[in-house]
Amino acid sequence: MEPMEPQSGGIRKAYKTYKYRLTPTPAQEQALATVLSRCRMLYNVALEQRKTWWDRGQGIGVTYYQQKAELPDVKAACPELAEVNAQVLQDVILRVERAYLDFFRRIKDGEMPGYPRFQGWGRYNSFTYPQYGGGAALDGSVLSLSKIGRIHIRLHRPMEGAPKTVTISREADGWYACISCAEIPIAPLPSVGCETGIDVGLKVFLVTANGEVIENPRHYRKAEKQLATAQRRVARRKKGSNRRKKAVKLLARRHQTVRRQRSDFHHKTALMLVQQFDTIYLEDLQVRNMVRNRRLAKSISDAGWGQFRTILAFKAAWAGKRVVAVPAQYTTQDCSGCGERMPKSLSVRTHVCPSCGLVMDRDENAALNILRAGQAR
Ligand SMILES: [Zn+2]
Repeated sequence: MEPMEPQSGGIRKAYKTYKYRLTPTPAQEQALATVLSRCRMLYNVALEQRKTWWDRGQGIGVTYYQQKAELPDVKAACPELAEVNAQVLQDVILRVERAYLDFFRRIKDGEMPGYPRFQGWGRYNSFTYPQYGGGAALDGSVLSLSKIGRIHIRLHRPMEGAPKTVTISREADGWYACISCAEIPIAPLPSVGCETGIDVGLKVFLVTANGEVIENPRHYRKAEKQLATAQRRVARRKKGSNRRKKAVKLLARRHQTVRRQRSDFHHKTALMLVQQFDTIYLEDLQVRNMVRNRRLAKSISDAGWGQFRTILAFKAAWAGKRVVAVPAQYTTQDCSGCGERMPKSLSVRTHVCPSCGLVMDRDENAALNILRAGQAR
């Protein structure tokens, strides 16, 4: 996602998403849940349709626009869908499209992705009004949603810029509205005259070219353990039982805790980096996918590296700093001292160069190579 808009009138503007808690009445909560289940139904129907086309070998020819054009017919066939705002339904079709594009992209990258999955209850947790004002708008401390009603919203901090989209989501502890805004004047941080490269660590979260090490937070590991325990408890309990339902609820809460802690950690780490550096170089992920093996790829996704990069890009844009993806290869193998290529297995923690004698932490060496590659561009 591109966090910056083109410059307009010399003032740089950025996007930002605000998340607010909704406090619906029981009847409104029921209405929200109904819209969510209608959207999920449409998602699965649209996916099924694509699957049929795909099985017939017409998968690539069928587009988002065709499905969107067929929406009125689908609505005529399923009157339940008339209870949902038309733009919200269009966004559901767009989600199917995105899932498909992602599927094709991964095939192109040489991966073996699973077919986009059908969404069960509890998996499909949000719907979007793609145009602020078109069915969703704020009115004081009330969020007015077409076909649902006027729901109280806790605006715990002021919103800036021009609201563009509204996404309503169901989480373990209730309902939320995410309002994304554009044209927010950025608040540049002072330039510090320093650049760095960063790389994801094998054991740590990340390492900078300056040798700074950011560990994975301990409380996060503890929360993950609790998550695993909650998962086992659900698996043990009898399907359909009340005890299982309770366990499922607890599991959802644990998931939410882990997600929040991770996101909080990412935000803090990203802020620290953009405060310390004007430009941050990191490795282009597509190159990484080609070069590195599957096991490492898994540890990267576990650490939420992709989510962190997105947050870092936004924070940097926000602060008037730069994040640059460098298509560097062999960042782990090459010696940052002399350039000599030194193949090493994943278990080798330290880079020791036979030609120039450099001894350095493996990840720091990689981060330095990324910095060099970035500066050489
Ligand atoms: Zn060397």
